[in-house]
Amino acid sequence: MKLFTATLIHETNSFSPIPTNLDSYRETFLYRPSTGEGVELADSLVADINIRTMAARRGHEAYQGLIAGAQPSMPTNDAAWTCLLEEILSDIRNHLPLDGVLLFLHGAQIANSVDDCEGELLCAVRALTGPDTVIGVSFDLHGNVSRQMIEHADFLLSCLEYPHTDFESRTELLLQLMERKHAGDISPLTSFRRVPMFGSYPTTREPMRGFVDRLMETQQRQDVLAISLIHGFAWSDVPDAGASVLVTCDGDARLADRLADELATEFFALREDLVSPPLTADDAIDKALLFESGPIVIADTTDNPGGGAPGDSTYLLERVFERGVENVGVAMLYDPVAVKIATSAGEGAQLPLRIGGKLSRLSGRPLDVLATVRKVRDDAMQLRDTSRRSLGDAVAIEVNGVEIVLCSEREQTFTAECFVEMGIDPYSKRLLIVKSHQHFHEDFSRFAQEIIYATPPGVVVRNFSELPYQRITRPVWPLDTPPFTAFSTEWK
Ligand SMILES: [Zn+2]
Repeated sequence: MKLFTATLIHETNSFSPIPTNLDSYRETFLYRPSTGEGVELADSLVADINIRTMAARRGHEAYQGLIAGAQPSMPTNDAAWTCLLEEILSDIRNHLPLDGVLLFLHGAQIANSVDDCEGELLCAVRALTGPDTVIGVSFDLHGNVSRQMIEHADFLLSCLEYPHTDFESRTELLLQLMERKHAGDISPLTSFRRVPMFGSYPTTREPMRGFVDRLMETQQRQDVLAISLIHGFAWSDVPDAGASVLVTCDGDARLADRLADELATEFFALREDLVSPPLTADDAIDKALLFESGPIVIADTTDNPGGGAPGDSTYLLERVFERGVENVGVAMLYDPVAVKIATSAGEGAQLPLRIGGKLSRLSGRPLDVLATVRKVRDDAMQLRDTSRRSLGDAVAIEVNGVEIVLCSEREQTFTAECFVEMGIDPYSKRLLIVKSHQHFHEDFSRFAQEIIYATPPGVVVRNFSELPYQRITRPVWPLDTPPFTAFSTEWK
């Protein structure tokens, strides 16, 4: 097949205090074929997949278009959105005719004037390619699926795992399905069901684990081509926000309808069992201190930069200091100003430093500490799956037996490497506090004695009734109490 591929990823948190412009993409990753900007990224891994290598191995001729991604934050401004959209479209125009277009999207991208960026993009791509080009989309299970997305793509496959460890296998499946459709071997028909619930559901624990396992077995049945269970992104204040199910079958609409109904009903019925109880900073610390040996990991879930939070909140750290807990590691507090000052002071210096608590009304208080600078680096990295992510300029400071990584690139904690790179031994700590909701789990679960999910105040608030929603579709659980229609059947 003659394939075109592009990547555009942004998870939009309508309530984030961090603006999103073209520089936000430059800071994360941006390759623009039209100008050659970021050309070194053209052969890099995207979502840990080099799609051109994968396509070449399967005998396809693949052309690389835009590669753009920004850290989760506010809606993208219109100028940046138009620029990124036009980049993809003009590249497609230059490569027509195409047998296939394979796009890596997030699924929950909003621009200032566009609620449904992925839908608008797919509509425009379809208008360019015509009906015979196979359009396949790989997207994040934290996407919010829209009618436009389904109407204009032949295949929409989300990852199924959270943490997202299965993008590669899902992309292989997507590519196989695109090949079979192009060859005329299959007639894919997709059924969609909106599941009116908001939440965040790690697949590492029950009952989600068992549900995803059963879903993967169902996907092996005759005539079932693909199933996606989408958790949705509840922090996008748009009408399509929420969970959903997509079932694609080969020529059998009734089977797709039946399975979509069954899975949507079952998912909705699990809603209360999927929610962890809220845990304040003190509750989380109390729980951690019950263990005699460490490390115990506390995930600061509500200040997760991977969900659009600043990554500078101090609720947990303040209580650690006030309670005199020692032998603690914290990664990472986003504070470029404190990094700059500590860097100027240099390794070994002791200085008064004000850290964290700056970027939103949910960041807590800035903490005034007497810090010893243990490490200064501008080249520290952390591994994320198979790619490496920069911490930017970074310092490790020590305050009363608490070692803290301060970074200047806003990023969640993926692996223990961000401690090690900054000279901190995470494996000997009694307590580790990480700014992440779940992506840290794959690495930290290898050595943590226990993992505790804390929910202090934060931008990625778990109590949805605290969010000033204006545009979401109601009713939705847990904001509303059933009985109400379990899922919409008005469109498929
Ligand atoms: Zn995600």
